[in-house]
Amino acid sequence: MRGLTRPLWPIRYKPLPDELLSSWLMRLAHGHGQKVQTFCNLIFGNQRQVWNRDIDRLGPAWLIEELAASTGTHLDRARLTTLRGFEGTLFKSFKTSGHLPWIQTLQMYHRKREGFGMQFCPLCLAESNPPYFRRSWRISFKTVCTKHQVAMLDRCPACQHAIAFHRIEMGKAEHDRLPSMRHCHACGFDLGAAIGVPPKTFQCPDALRWLCEVIQRLDSATDDELDVDPDLLSVYRYLASMMLSKRGAGLNVLTAAEIGADAIAFTHERRLSLEGSDLATRHQILLQAAWLMQDPASRIEAAWQAKAVRYNHLIKDFEDMPEWYRTSVIGQIERRPYTHRKPRRHPSKASSPG
Ligand SMILES: [Zn+2]
Ligand SMILES: [Zn+2]
Repeated sequence: MRGLTRPLWPIRYKPLPDELLSSWLMRLAHGHGQKVQTFCNLIFGNQRQVWNRDIDRLGPAWLIEELAASTGTHLDRARLTTLRGFEGTLFKSFKTSGHLPWIQTLQMYHRKREGFGMQFCPLCLAESNPPYFRRSWRISFKTVCTKHQVAMLDRCPACQHAIAFHRIEMGKAEHDRLPSMRHCHACGFDLGAAIGVPPKTFQCPDALRWLCEVIQRLDSATDDELDVDPDLLSVYRYLASMMLSKRGAGLNVLTAAEIGADAIAFTHERRLSLEGSDLATRHQILLQAAWLMQDPASRIEAAWQAKAVRYNHLIKDFEDMPEWYRTSVIGQIERRPYTHRKPRRHPSKASSPG
């Protein structure tokens, strides 16, 4: 009802398909001929900080409601510009801080972004007019644009800076021509002109095919409906994340060999998360995990038989372990002679969650 009782803005762009909130806000500012910071100060005042947080993840109600009401956009549609809509599919329940499964972190530091959490496909960016950033580009397993069959990018190919399109006007005078979101904020390179290269397959096109099927489901998601089994995704993420950690080191080596890749050597000095890792690392680890996912019961059991992974590491800290994984994967190992495996869990640890 608010849209009926307040004046609409002169420019009323609606969100484009799969558009991110931050991208929509940026287009609206530029549509009004203003730098995004000036526009935000004008609309929300100096007290509301927009760009020192991950608005696409947090989806502040005051921001979404303002944009919806002032552009005549349905509130439900406006809400779909944020990553919260993946609750129940990519992650069980939304939280404002800490790692959110499958959502790439931006690693905000003041208004800067130190992490490589904003990915893009140069061809998608080049062919859309106006250029804009997609919600699905923030998803960890989207390492390939299945439409163009090219690898996604997570940094400017010219200067290697992370993507921060809200900073492209930094240092520009108010009357300067507003730069397009297609350009790198740090060096001005036209990101839409970046060369698209085919995704790495190593020696295992089947693993890439498996991953691309998951990505295609994300791409064809309508509104909040994502046609992918949350249980499958949670096992996939569990295995991929494990391979980034010390306890998954053996599994990392084994699966890298299976897909014909050199295993990435991790120092394990600091905890590396799937959602905080760069695109090249993530893509390879996701392919390795995809190889396991193609036949999880027998491939995981074989890895365990080869002592590449310990039994208790396959269940450790696995919250909400899906029933099929519990019965077919873990159950299969449990049915093997007891001497092969370590005790399931030390009695004194049985009650502790981790
Ligand atoms: Zn594309
Ligand atoms: Zn650059």
